[in-house]
Amino acid sequence: MKTAVINIGCKVNQCECDSLMTGLKALGHEVTDELVFADNYVINTCAVTKEAERKSRQFVGKVKKINPKADVYVIGCASEKNAEQFSIKGVKYISGTARKEDVLQMLSGVHISEIPEVYESLPQGTIFRARAYVKVEDGCNNFCSYCIIPYLRGRVRSRSIESIREECIKAAETTDEIVLTGINLSAYGSDIGLTLADLVSALSDLPVRLRLGSLEVNVVTESFLDAVVASEKICPHFHLSLQSGSDGVLKEMNRHYTTEEYRMKVSLIRTYFPSAAITTDIIVGFPTETEEQFEESLAFAREIGFANIHVFPYSRRLGTAAYPLGTLPDQVMTDRVNRMIALRNELKKAYESPFVGSELEVVVESSDGVFAEGYSENYIRVYIPDRDYSVGKKIIVTIEGERADGLLAR
Ligand code: SF4
Repeated sequence: MKTAVINIGCKVNQCECDSLMTGLKALGHEVTDELVFADNYVINTCAVTKEAERKSRQFVGKVKKINPKADVYVIGCASEKNAEQFSIKGVKYISGTARKEDVLQMLSGVHISEIPEVYESLPQGTIFRARAYVKVEDGCNNFCSYCIIPYLRGRVRSRSIESIREECIKAAETTDEIVLTGINLSAYGSDIGLTLADLVSALSDLPVRLRLGSLEVNVVTESFLDAVVASEKICPHFHLSLQSGSDGVLKEMNRHYTTEEYRMKVSLIRTYFPSAAITTDIIVGFPTETEEQFEESLAFAREIGFANIHVFPYSRRLGTAAYPLGTLPDQVMTDRVNRMIALRNELKKAYESPFVGSELEVVVESSDGVFAEGYSENYIRVYIPDRDYSVGKKIIVTIEGERADGLLAR
């Protein structure tokens, strides 16, 4: 029995897919994460943007084309938001963000589960990629005005440190890098009397480097950074979610910080890690964003000197507080997205270029026989002339030049 587990969404979805693949393997299934012929398909959907939701529906059509007789199991945020859109012929099971492990029991029939109030464990994931993604938390209490996720994933639920350690110890047998992920990683522990700093400290004896997933401004404090420094395992890469560089827009987004607070947090990080990569997400074209506010956002991104920016065009989601605000005209959106991407490219180069001549520690992710490639501790993509490097293992390289999408090592 062959089962394909397809991920449409974020790193948290990816962790869940890995866990399901491990569980299916234990049940004797041949598993794959590729869009190939299979007897069953599990599709872990995403609803963060309209495009992600459309893609999720499209994948159901794609797998039915590959094998019209296959059983399709749909889970995740898009089916939590609107199960009906997946009620099509051949879809055997529809669930939401809860009880994903039910797929392992191959239940039949349409079923929407309640969102749980405590952390729900899936089987521990085996590593199917060079880096291991370990999910430590689910849910979010923030209710940013544009975001549907708290409605779909529920409130913050943290996984126990013991369970996280157990998975990390197993992952460390096959990889040199573990990424800690969560829907709102910064809120880790808030429901069980712990903090993210506690988790960082509890993992400091692992023989791997650890990378933190997306962080919120509020988590960056001296005590948090003290724990990060003391651990000696956390990569000097902080993905600090910004979303807008305009105070007016941040207020409309219900983001609970100002650009001044953000600036101070970045400066604090840089006192501990002077050459850390500060990366971020920016939503372009929030419905109330004026041209002047967009220019404030550009200027702020330039001032911070982000090492990379994930640029998201605003996506209107029914059920969110911002939905009634409508959308900006398409040409305004396209123009702003292009301008933010151009700035992103310029800042990325400016961050990466000074590392030519330096040594970086790269965890190899793939190798095509000509080049091996992977990410450095400060999240720069590095290409290395291939000499049979082991995928998942770290190597120290000297950077000798630049490429369009990263750096070249010898
Ligand atoms: S912090 Fe905001 S954007 Fe992130 S998941 Fe929570 S509500 Fe959504």
